[in-house]
Amino acid sequence: MAGAAGDNTPWWADYPAPGVRRDFPRPPLEETSENQRASAQLSEYIKSLPRPEKPLKVAIIGAGLAGLSTAKYLTDAGHEPTIYESRDVLGGKVSAWQDADGDWVETGLHIFFGAYPNVNQMFKELGIEDRLQWKSHSMIFAMPGQQTAEGFQRFSRFEFPQFLPAPINGIAAILMNNEMLTWPEKIRFGIGLLPAILFGQAYVEECDKLSVSEWMRKQGVPERVNEEVFIAMAKALNFIDPDNLSMTVVLTALNRFLQETHGSKMAFLDGPPPTRLCQPMADYVEQRGGSVLLEKRLSKIELNDDNTVKCLKLQGGETVEADVYVSAMPVDPLKLMLPEPWRPLPYFKLLDGLKGVPVINIHLWFDRKLTTVDHLLFSRSPLLSVYADMALTCNGYRDDEKSMLELVFAPAKDWIGRPDEEIIAATMKELEILFPNEISADGSKAKLLKSHVVKTPLSVYEATPGREDFRPVQTSPINNFFLAGCFTKQKYLASMEGATFSGKLCAQAIAEAAVAGRVKARAPEPAAAVVA
Ligand SMILES: Cc1cc2nc3c(=O)[nH]c(=O)nc-3n(C[C@H](O)[C@H](O)[C@H](O)COP(=O)(O)OP(=O)(O)OC[C@H]3O[C@@H](n4cnc5c(N)ncnc54)[C@H](O)[C@@H]3O)c2cc1C
Repeated sequence: MAGAAGDNTPWWADYPAPGVRRDFPRPPLEETSENQRASAQLSEYIKSLPRPEKPLKVAIIGAGLAGLSTAKYLTDAGHEPTIYESRDVLGGKVSAWQDADGDWVETGLHIFFGAYPNVNQMFKELGIEDRLQWKSHSMIFAMPGQQTAEGFQRFSRFEFPQFLPAPINGIAAILMNNEMLTWPEKIRFGIGLLPAILFGQAYVEECDKLSVSEWMRKQGVPERVNEEVFIAMAKALNFIDPDNLSMTVVLTALNRFLQETHGSKMAFLDGPPPTRLCQPMADYVEQRGGSVLLEKRLSKIELNDDNTVKCLKLQGGETVEADVYVSAMPVDPLKLMLPEPWRPLPYFKLLDGLKGVPVINIHLWFDRKLTTVDHLLFSRSPLLSVYADMALTCNGYRDDEKSMLELVFAPAKDWIGRPDEEIIAATMKELEILFPNEISADGSKAKLLKSHVVKTPLSVYEATPGREDFRPVQTSPINNFFLAGCFTKQKYLASMEGATFSGKLCAQAIAEAAVAGRVKARAPEPAAAVVA
């Protein structure tokens, strides 16, 4: 319904009115994205590698998306992975669980993008593409303090015209939004971006030296552009402010969004990630001879005399022996697990430069339907990042009578240690501004039925300037030890795409090492041996 969602709607815009749910078809990514085609080719390449005479037994630590992706592609190459996950749930940072009422609680509000070629390819290869609920091609920012004639929060939309290819659709989206940026600001920002357009990836990487705010000043971009757009973007990309975020992160995202016609189109998973995404990945692995084991916590990596891995010790005393070992743990626990002789090696010393950033995810159940839009919303609040009414956006959490807001609270460094009640009270104050005639912090309007606060003190690595140099490649100097994880080197950010791609690259590296004879199957048993 064109023009239904509010004032200033361009004539060509096609999105649902507030409160109306509507999904859009999966975009034709294979036609419009070179990266999507490259991802399909890499999958085919991994499958086409010469079959091993004897499959490698690969022990993978961690069942986040990186560990699951590593295992999936190792089975495609004919190997036998076993995943050891410390928790009783799959997914790591995409994990979720049910509370006493059976309501799902997620570690994070997760958004998928058209520019996630390896994630989208994974959905395709698992036959679960219909589980992504694609939304209108828009980026929607709250306008704090501004209300519609009916007293609702005003939003400003960047609308990507469907009939235009990249980069024109992105440029049109920016040029046609006159509520957030003035024409002189847009022109100044456009000029600032010219080096990125002219010099491409080399320039994007060079900008890792600068924070977003420093880059803006250097390029003469008005401070207001930072305040209007990039505080919200920095918080959404890495849960920190533009004063701290590396400009490489923003340019990487902008690059993808401007180069791929559907790059910035967003999708929600249709339910909890462990059941709707991770379980199909685990099933795929197990149907092809691999295993995924929960509640198996790595406690020590034991070495041979030549410093290669001899075995893993699990909490409780089990010993795991395999031909190849993969850490798909986040960088912080990995650093704690490094055996002493590895620590002086430059490859492992680099990890000291990476550290997880704190973030808080909040779920709020209300007694009524709030007026929201079927999309991800940038709050532009000082405490909050993005939010969505999951009861509207996501089929698995659908409730036509009540809203369930899921919100990312960031930056969280000053809040992560505070009690949940304080965090909820502060969030409700922010929601008073976002829902002026529907929410009051004193509870006199919509009633808060219940809430959950999920704190992740060390989440994805903090992408401050200079971090790119510290990201390790998947192949380590230890012959039988590899790394996967969204912090490892790959051209995507610390994200679901980064994690999935890192796992694929890790599997590729192991399979190629097997073909080249650099790693060999030695144990006779068919699965990674667990010796009590
Ligand atoms: C609040 C929040 C919101 C987010 N939003 C988005 C988003 O919208 N879009 C997006 O793309 N990304 C988002 N992300 C980032 C995304 O979730 C991560 O980048 C990605 O899931 C990381 O996957 P991973 O496999 O590298 O690591 P993890 O998911 O952390 O997996 C590591 C696994 O290792 C296990 N492990 C750790 N130690 C041990 C041990 N000793 N023994 C055995 N197992 C161990 C852990 O339990 C875990 O399961 C968000 C993250 C958070 C926290």
